[in-house]
Amino acid sequence: MKAKININTRFDSFQKYSLYQSLDRESRNEIKDIGIEYKLTFQELKQLTDMAVDFKMWEEPGIGIQWKLYSKSLNQSNKIFNKTVLKSIKNHWQTLKEDETKYETKSKRNYKSTVRKIKEINGENEVFGMCPVASEKTVCCNLRTIDVAQGCGLGCSYCSIQTFYEDGAIAVEKNLEDKLASIKLDPNKNYHIGSGQSSDSLALGNKNGILDAQLDFASNNPNIILEFKTKSKNINHFLNVKMPNNVFISWSLNPQLFIDNEEARTASLKQRLKSARTLSDKGILVGFHFHPLVHYQGWEKDYKKLIGNLMDMFSPNEIGLISFGTLTFIKPAIKSLRQIGTKSKILQIPFEEAAGKISYPMETKKKIFSEVWDSFTPWHDKVFFYFCMEDKELWNHVFGKCYKSNDDFETDLFDSVKRKLELNDPIKINKTF
Ligand code: SF4
Repeated sequence: MKAKININTRFDSFQKYSLYQSLDRESRNEIKDIGIEYKLTFQELKQLTDMAVDFKMWEEPGIGIQWKLYSKSLNQSNKIFNKTVLKSIKNHWQTLKEDETKYETKSKRNYKSTVRKIKEINGENEVFGMCPVASEKTVCCNLRTIDVAQGCGLGCSYCSIQTFYEDGAIAVEKNLEDKLASIKLDPNKNYHIGSGQSSDSLALGNKNGILDAQLDFASNNPNIILEFKTKSKNINHFLNVKMPNNVFISWSLNPQLFIDNEEARTASLKQRLKSARTLSDKGILVGFHFHPLVHYQGWEKDYKKLIGNLMDMFSPNEIGLISFGTLTFIKPAIKSLRQIGTKSKILQIPFEEAAGKISYPMETKKKIFSEVWDSFTPWHDKVFFYFCMEDKELWNHVFGKCYKSNDDFETDLFDSVKRKLELNDPIKINKTF
């Protein structure tokens, strides 16, 4: 009886563990039943819960089934019974993380309505800054960012933006034009500026005049190149206005299988490529980000096919830049994504420390990045390629070279894109809008 009281008391205090509370009732009951019956320690309960959260997100059999499966052939009176069962479940969990992720061809995800509350930001907050994920520890392009909104309704499962803004609303700048006009840029310096780091650049259209304000900002500052980054097909505004000749639009690309499973409400791959083609036909420069590159079953074939299509659809002169990046998480984002518990396999990767963040092991990155780079062989010296947020070791392995400094990287990127912008200048080549 004494032991029973102790385990119940232990369980009462364990129930406060936030990840336990984030689970559905069925999983919580399974953990409680196992915990009490087998007198699990606090640490064992925590371990079981962490794996239960992952199994739930990955749509694997629940923790109750896993416990039954791995305990059925064991002798319960054995002193290391609990440890052995937990170890077997952990081995299975680890194998799932290390193997290539398996995606269902038809996503079972039930995307909720796209309607998100839109608020206005009318305060003193800064809209201009350095790329928030840049790091001294990786090779970085010194990107500056304009934050026109906070929050995003597209719902990519790997995006930490969804973990930043708790009420789920999207807040849009009310007086972006004034704020952009007050930014002090050094006229003797060149800047690559991107919007779309804290929201999608085009998903909100020209709400509160945010697109017009940015186009005016580009017109008034010829020493910048301004990049709109998107996963939407929302290009209409750009088809109806005069585009400054220092603006380009870029799309994040991934095979449709990955989009179906992890990029909930974004435009399909076909729609993204079609939108890019439409803008190219108007003389507007475009770019592409293969970010995140993902190690899933079938990745070689899918990326090869996607890159083949891309090279058939565009000439290299129409492309400003192409970047590669992969899944990289900061630890608090992993915690928040688990807490949200979206059905997703995005955390089903081996967690390897990479420049203070969590990513794939270097060997896996070398394999994927090399394969994708090789698929672009005919364009190697015709388009500016770079890696986003990656280590020197990866640059040297794949490209056979690396920049000496981030400033060199920044200059090279700016000069290359500027040259392409001049070739595609919508004003000079007199395309009609
Ligand atoms: S390389 Fe990527 S992370 Fe680094 S500054 Fe550029 S965009 Fe930001």
